[in-house]
Amino acid sequence: MDKRYIYADNAATTKVSDSVLKAMMPYFQDNFANPSGLYSPATSAARAVRQARADIAKCLNAEPGEVFFTSCGTEADNWAIKSAVELTGKKRIITSKLEHHAVLKTCEYLQTKGFEITYLPCPENGIIEPEELKKAIGNDVAVVSIMLANNEIGTIQKVSEMAKICHEYGVLIHTDAVQAVGNIPVDFKALGVDMLSLSGHKIHAPKGIGALIVRKGINLPSFIHGGKQEVGKRAGTENVPYIMGLRQAILDATTDTEKRSEYVLSLRERLIDGLLKIEMTRLNGDRDNRLPGNANISFYGIEGESLALLLDMKGICVSSGSACTTGDTEPSHVLKAIGLSDEWAKGALRITLSEENTIEDVDYIVEMITEIVAKLRASSTLWKKTAL
Ligand SMILES: *Cc1c(COP(=O)(O)O)cnc(C)c1O
Repeated sequence: MDKRYIYADNAATTKVSDSVLKAMMPYFQDNFANPSGLYSPATSAARAVRQARADIAKCLNAEPGEVFFTSCGTEADNWAIKSAVELTGKKRIITSKLEHHAVLKTCEYLQTKGFEITYLPCPENGIIEPEELKKAIGNDVAVVSIMLANNEIGTIQKVSEMAKICHEYGVLIHTDAVQAVGNIPVDFKALGVDMLSLSGHKIHAPKGIGALIVRKGINLPSFIHGGKQEVGKRAGTENVPYIMGLRQAILDATTDTEKRSEYVLSLRERLIDGLLKIEMTRLNGDRDNRLPGNANISFYGIEGESLALLLDMKGICVSSGSACTTGDTEPSHVLKAIGLSDEWAKGALRITLSEENTIEDVDYIVEMITEIVAKLRASSTLWKKTAL
């Protein structure tokens, strides 16, 4: 990307880091062998995949046999939910309206196949009370799917408390931890979930690699049928370079997480404080229990999309609402779920910082947003109506 850009859309994707790129390179040409082969380059590729599985497991406090590689976070979410309903034979799924489309659309699809979906209510701070799960759960539930950290408003859910409730009822629980891994400590055993999704490209690995962590003893049905890869549950020749990239990204992301988070959090606080100085502006999602790099702010009377497009002209990459809804005129489903009116939801901007951002970046972003918001409001009929 052009050097003059300030990239502040890290919840959409991240740049592949130097260490990840370096870890991947040998497996494109020097050792491109299929890990299933019998010759030594093949056994060396198989060894690399084995090592990656073991190292990723260790970083997340899971066991190597619990790690299954997938093509992305979306695939991991699909697999977890579709296989859980198949495994249990039960007809109800509990989730929330805050989930990523990878979970929501999977549930909507299953609804067309006769499954019942229960959505847990969510208060304005974006954090679901485990008490709500207690009220909704029953022996008829196949799986509960609640994300660990939200991709739009960054709020962190009380997943370990929810896992305890699920286990009292013998119900499986899945968590989408795509945004959480690398940003907050993620301990698979301590969380107590049965399944956990993650993705490479949100943590400086390439797009097109992810994993589903499945608790030992759960015999999840196969998702892709074919060869013996991933013990036959997810067939297809292993993407060795990307698996090695994911390994490196997770090693990097789980080293010094706290130190990095502290720095990113200080930038976020400076950004939020700066933006909330603009009148008729609100922070979406809990101020404290959110990802260190996430600021989601609504500016009343304007459209977040126009703001994002004008910021692009100033060399700033951010997102309106959520990247997945760019081009949509519908306000974000997450902002609606926490009770925002259409007017407030439409004025939302998501800025997601990483350790590559600086104080100068933040100050420039605040300055440009302040300027552009004033300009947009000057020509906004909604703003004029409010002012009267
Ligand atoms: C990005 C994202 C996904 C999808 O991951 P892909 O690897 O892009 O398929 C799923 N859930 C959340 C919370 C995400 O942020």
